[in-house]
Amino acid sequence: MSTGVGNAQRLDAVRAINARMPRKIELPADESGRPLKTSEYYGINTFGLVRMKEKLPKDIFARLTTAIHSGGKIDREVATAVAHSVKEWALSQGVTHFCHWFQPLTGATAEKHDAFLSFDDAGHVIEHFSGSQLIQSEPDASSFPSGGMRTTFEARGYTAWDPTSPMFIMEGVNTKTLCIPSVFISYHGHSLDEKTGLLRSMEALSKSATELLHTLGDKDVKRVVPTLGAEQEYFLVDRNWFSARPDLVMTGRTLLGRGPSRGQQLEDHYFGSIPTRVLAFMSEVETELFKLGVPIKTRHNEVAPSQFETAPIFEEANVATDHNQIVMELMRKVALRHNYQCLFHEKPFAGINGSGKHCNFSMQITGGGSLDGENLLEPGKTPHQNLRFLVFLVAVMKGVYKHSALLRAGIATHGNDHRLGANEAPPAIISVFLGEELTRIVSALGAGKDVGESAERVMIHMGVSKLPEVAKDNTDRNRTSPFAFTGNKFEFRAVGSSAPTGFAMTFLHAAVAEGILEVNAAIQAKVKAGKSVDAAALEVIREGSKETEPVRFEGNGYSEDWQKEAAKRGLPNHRTSPDAMAALKDRKSIELFKRLGIFGEEEVMSRYHIRLERYIKHLLIEVNSLREMVDTLVLPACFLYHRSLSEGAAAAKAAGVSAPQLHTLKLVGEWLGTVGEKRKDLDSVLTKVEKAGGEEAQAKILAAEMVPAMLALREACDELEALVGDEYWPLPKYREMLFV
Ligand code: ADP
Ligand code: MG
Repeated sequence: MSTGVGNAQRLDAVRAINARMPRKIELPADESGRPLKTSEYYGINTFGLVRMKEKLPKDIFARLTTAIHSGGKIDREVATAVAHSVKEWALSQGVTHFCHWFQPLTGATAEKHDAFLSFDDAGHVIEHFSGSQLIQSEPDASSFPSGGMRTTFEARGYTAWDPTSPMFIMEGVNTKTLCIPSVFISYHGHSLDEKTGLLRSMEALSKSATELLHTLGDKDVKRVVPTLGAEQEYFLVDRNWFSARPDLVMTGRTLLGRGPSRGQQLEDHYFGSIPTRVLAFMSEVETELFKLGVPIKTRHNEVAPSQFETAPIFEEANVATDHNQIVMELMRKVALRHNYQCLFHEKPFAGINGSGKHCNFSMQITGGGSLDGENLLEPGKTPHQNLRFLVFLVAVMKGVYKHSALLRAGIATHGNDHRLGANEAPPAIISVFLGEELTRIVSALGAGKDVGESAERVMIHMGVSKLPEVAKDNTDRNRTSPFAFTGNKFEFRAVGSSAPTGFAMTFLHAAVAEGILEVNAAIQAKVKAGKSVDAAALEVIREGSKETEPVRFEGNGYSEDWQKEAAKRGLPNHRTSPDAMAALKDRKSIELFKRLGIFGEEEVMSRYHIRLERYIKHLLIEVNSLREMVDTLVLPACFLYHRSLSEGAAAAKAAGVSAPQLHTLKLVGEWLGTVGEKRKDLDSVLTKVEKAGGEEAQAKILAAEMVPAMLALREACDELEALVGDEYWPLPKYREMLFV
């Protein structure tokens, strides 16, 4: 009796994987072979402000930094000088090409390379790079999503250099390319990317925070930058497993597959010793990242088997956003060299933890003289600092409370739907976790009347200044919160692992900027009415604490009770992406973005449409992949096994002995019946989707009916996986992908 080939292939894969050696690379070294310290080669592949300062004439550099900080235009002379010096530097490093590197609304990065090659007037070949080539480029933009902002007859879009993020050399096999971080805008100035909105939101936040600081008496402050430290979670799967799983190849997650008998229940993977082959991968990634000036700091195993995390030292949000894109890109590339596939999907495997990208957020004073570098969410040592801390804390909470639906929209993707609300990830309800100590203080302040001003002063003086240690020790208690205070920053834990950080952070900055504006206006009104600044600020803190009570939650975010409680409090609970995304086109959101100068109405709507469309496309790819796998892999394997059982049973019967196969045969037959039914259900939902009028209706059906239908089909197939002889099964199993 011939068996399926599945098992033979899987055994080959096991043998190949077991024979793999960790990949060794040449570490950066000096001429004598002495290994370089990280600090000796950190940033060698970047051309940022530090290098510009070295290479550019003093006045040019001064004009450049002024333009950057004031958001002003970079004039021709400056551009020409920068272009010249970056070209010389790049050529000396063996670079042949340059590209504007940008982040269109596809969620990925885009680049179009041009050689430095040119001819001079006499017809000689030269290397050439002009100021205008540095500043602007016109890729044929018509194939990037614009959500209707650019009709094809006017497909022009252009990329423009973002001087706030360092240029860098991307090393490939046989080639080096100078990448110029850029924004991508339509001919009419509409943002077509993830970066423009982010930069505008940083501007809005800086403006509002600076005004508030001025009101509070910190008059020297000129700018405030939002900071971001993005912890990146990911899975590594051997290439042999990956390429044998059509679902992983097509969708990044397993659409089928029975959980192994051992998942993560032993809790032995988290922070465990890192496997040698994985560590070799991690350190190669880090070596490359250090060259690119990406400050990677932490690496460790995550909770699920084969899951890991890497985290940088935080930076200004726009640089951190570019860096996170570089991190993901490099991890993907380097993983291949180690025969791994790096999975950034939020839920590659059912039944074990998914991956997130915890976005740590705070605000930092820059250009503020003696206050330079101060963290606005750091409880301070002086009463003034603590007052300031509480004012900003309340402002953040106000923003998050008022725009929680928008924040949920900012993290809504098909992948994150499988993670949010699952047993290890934050729920889809956006709430704020402060920790016991801070809650006590904030609640006491909010309680109002019986807490006199002097009592409040004491609390600000005593309680909060002790806070950092206390809160930091408790970071593990907030695993279930989507937005948790962790001592001197907020951790936005609900962001998905595959998401570019720009989108979610733009929304967060907008919400916080609004909170700050409100707080500032309230304080100013009270000052106008004759109160002292401190007294006014205290009152506003108190009112804000009371007002934001509903959004604060310290309990278990996974519990049923919280769902009910949140509903009572009127907090939105958008379980699916289409529901969540609808908040984007809400008047409230559109007006917010307009007010803050981040997006015009068209820009918001285009994002809504693009995201919805992508949701639909991703789901349809999943459905089609699942159908194909069931029809061409699962069913044939089951039929083969079924036949072998029935032939065995027939033979037994003919021999006049009992046929023990019959029991399994019956079970397999029953489950095959179920698969048949569920397979049909999929088709009928698909027909419904095809007939539905418009994207919104389609997305709704996909979320409400297709996702459960796919799950039901999967469950039946997974039952069969447990029944069908191992040698017949054509797909790598969970135990193999996660443990071999
Ligand atoms: P944990 O796992 O406890 O959350 P990690 O060390 O893994 O802590 O990650 C914390 C992240 O927060 C790091 O990327 C760190 O740089 C970042 N971070 C620390 N302070 C700030 C800040 N003020 N603003 C933004 N991010 C910060
Ligand atoms: Mg962490």
